[in-house]
Amino acid sequence: MIKKTAGPYLLLANIGQLLTLRGDTGPRRGPALNDIGLIEGAAVLCGAGKIIAAGRQRDILRHAWVKSNKSKLKELDCRGKVVLPGLIDCHTHPAFMKPRLVDFEKRIAGATYEEIAAAGGGIRSSLAGVRDAKRNALAEKVLTGFNAMLRHGTSTIEAKSGYGLSTESEIKSLEAIREAARHWPGTVKPTLLAGHVVPPEFKENPEGYVDLVCEEIIPLVARRRLAEYVDVFCERGAFTLEQSERMMAAARAHGMDTRAHVCQFTPSSLHGLLKHSPASFDHMDCVADHDLAELAGSNTVSVLLPGANYFLGHKEYPNARRLIEAGLAVALATDYNPGTSPTPSMPFVISPACTHMKMTPAEAIAASTANAAAALRLQRSKGTIEAGKDADLAIIDVDDFREIAYWFSWNRCAEMVVAGERQDFTADLRG
Ligand SMILES: [Zn+2]
Repeated sequence: MIKKTAGPYLLLANIGQLLTLRGDTGPRRGPALNDIGLIEGAAVLCGAGKIIAAGRQRDILRHAWVKSNKSKLKELDCRGKVVLPGLIDCHTHPAFMKPRLVDFEKRIAGATYEEIAAAGGGIRSSLAGVRDAKRNALAEKVLTGFNAMLRHGTSTIEAKSGYGLSTESEIKSLEAIREAARHWPGTVKPTLLAGHVVPPEFKENPEGYVDLVCEEIIPLVARRRLAEYVDVFCERGAFTLEQSERMMAAARAHGMDTRAHVCQFTPSSLHGLLKHSPASFDHMDCVADHDLAELAGSNTVSVLLPGANYFLGHKEYPNARRLIEAGLAVALATDYNPGTSPTPSMPFVISPACTHMKMTPAEAIAASTANAAAALRLQRSKGTIEAGKDADLAIIDVDDFREIAYWFSWNRCAEMVVAGERQDFTADLRG
């Protein structure tokens, strides 16, 4: 268990820049994405896991609650650093056993993602490790990923299965995610991704696999409440639009919400998928013009994953400016996974979002907090620093918030407060 190093009442004092992200509870679109609610010389008061007040320090110190509870209050001196909402990684694949080093070298030698997949590499090459693993061993791997994310400022994670692709091993993956989540202080939203690719034993009968997902895996996962979302990989070489829609419809029929990997390598028409009210469409590298207006009018958040473009060595990145200017709600995530984006770091993702996708540092931070919360439908409890929200805060050892985007691959996260409690960064399943 993560050690708890402070009592339930905590005052974060002497904050140089506080990024509150305060404002409406929907995802931010257009110019509003730049509004991070910056307050200089700030303090945040936390109690019982929630934010009681946040604002200028002189106002917070005059707060009636501070005066009447002074003896219970512990103080965390932030020494002029930047404090922002705990980052929200709304797209991760942590349930895998090993890095994919053969694929890595093949890609360096010039093979493409699709060539590697066709040769039995890619997602399918992670199957054996997960299918053979004991649940506890898989849970250890998941927790290792979660802890690395926490050290980089992340306090809420969406976590997918998807490297088992059989009833038994998808259930085992979700159980491993649940076990890891029990030993982690932050919030984990589990997602069933049985619709990742067609497993080899169904190579000649992909419809048979979709039947298995719809008629057996989704009902079982729903009954056991092992996941909140069903995700599908709608892409050439994975699942067709019709197959993706079938899995999303089955999810909705069993009371689960949906999300989808779409438009990563090839464009898909998104109108049919939108009927299933997905919480997010993820990747979105090549969205067709004719889908933009409908997307802008929907509550579906577009989650951009530049870590994958970086690691695959792509010259092109998702066109964030086009999507923001069209009024889409844009979020960022790591896509933490062994094949295309082995990074636990949201600050690393914020770097190419700025340098390659031309988002401003403020936009990239809003996309990693308030809008990432909306991508997980958590905007009422997370993603901003306002009274009543969960007290999940990242303390970053910089003077100016723009440095979070500027110092790439240099982890400046100094400390995390999760549910109002200071965290130390050592944990494992045994503790
Ligand atoms: Zn993914």
